[in-house]
Amino acid sequence: MTHVFHRNPRAEQPVVARGDGPYIYDKAGKQYLDASGGAAVSCLGHSNKFVADAMKEQIDKISFAHSGFFTNQPMEDLADFLVARAPGNLDHVYFVSGGSEAVEAALKLARQYFLEKGENSRTRFISRRQSYHGNTIGALAAGGNQWRREPYAPLLMPVPLISPCYEYREKRNDETSGEFGQRVAGELETALIDAGPENVCAFICEPVVGATMGAVPAVEGYFKRIREICDQYGILFIADEVMCGMGRTGSLFAVEQEGVAPDILVTAKGLGAGYQAIGAMLVSNEILRTIVDGSGFFQHGHTYMGHPVSCAAALAVQNYIEDNDLLSNVRRRGEQLHDALTARLGNNPFVGDIRGRGLFRGIELVADRMTREPLDPSLKIHAKIKSAAMEAGLMCYPMGGTIDGRRGDHILLAPPFIIDETHIAEIVEKLGSTVENVLAKAI
Ligand code: PLP
Repeated sequence: MTHVFHRNPRAEQPVVARGDGPYIYDKAGKQYLDASGGAAVSCLGHSNKFVADAMKEQIDKISFAHSGFFTNQPMEDLADFLVARAPGNLDHVYFVSGGSEAVEAALKLARQYFLEKGENSRTRFISRRQSYHGNTIGALAAGGNQWRREPYAPLLMPVPLISPCYEYREKRNDETSGEFGQRVAGELETALIDAGPENVCAFICEPVVGATMGAVPAVEGYFKRIREICDQYGILFIADEVMCGMGRTGSLFAVEQEGVAPDILVTAKGLGAGYQAIGAMLVSNEILRTIVDGSGFFQHGHTYMGHPVSCAAALAVQNYIEDNDLLSNVRRRGEQLHDALTARLGNNPFVGDIRGRGLFRGIELVADRMTREPLDPSLKIHAKIKSAAMEAGLMCYPMGGTIDGRRGDHILLAPPFIIDETHIAEIVEKLGSTVENVLAKAI
């Protein structure tokens, strides 16, 4: 063990030395293809010169000026960029340092919005099972990821959880996809009535679920019904696009593909693509107006909000993506990746589902394809796949989700938007043999 305290203090991790496009190299010179962007972060790949130059230019001007004293040009320009492209009337942006901070800000803003309107009884949030909204106490409470919550459960506010729109596991045989979507969206109404609508601030969910389920989009019509219910009961809809946003699913905002606009949208990872730590909360005009015309002050903040270098990096990342039309590549390569994964792993007896959108793809592993029984959690297949893939020079993001309270295994892929056909072939070949070898040894 070194003096560094890692999340997994027992793990021995290679020392990273440098990056080049979709590849990372460790100190010993070993090459890794970054097929998950870490955890869906590095959407531009590594060591992009355009972004590095923009950061250097900003550092040469000024690295930091506290946002309680000054605004800064990269922050203003980045907000303009996002608002010009955001769905609905998300007209204002609040910059923070990451996803959990953005979610905390959203929860607090929702509460303060209703306080300003005199609706003081609105204190509660509703979310979904198998969701993840971050690791700080408020964000953790809002998520339905049981194993992450468990040790801290006594510290967390109670949040009613409804079913996720998880067609592979939750759809009944006697219903169509559309009927399934309406049924699970209808659970929001039931949960609202149970909690008393006058007590609820907001519903929060991920438009395409990442870490806890492995790239699961909702069925068509689900989000339209969610929006209707939120409007009917006067609660806010918070879209958590920390992982699925900023082009990952093929549109800049994932929710665009659902034809609805949230009241608050939070984003992070792909915003700065890992070049700097940055997150953002986009807020409707109505919400900000209420605060401006009310107390005039949002009771929340962090030291590094709107950091000039982070904003300059994120602006350069987003301009680079747009100027090089990388979202077309996301859509095209995403389909190719899906087809190649299906060809390589589609008949594997332990592969239950291959799914996702754009360059956000998930593979769910099962013990039995017919019954969809999850793999025995004590086998820790996801952890074995992660280390065997690293051994093979591939970074992917396998996780144990929670299925009926147990952990199930899936692999998340979120490669950079710059990948070409040869990278796809390398991902699929390395992942295919890793999955086969791990399962052959373990089962
Ligand atoms: N929300 C979602 C959907 C996430 O996937 C994550 C992180 O994985 C977070 C929030 C928390 O973001 P961060 O790790 O930057 O705090």
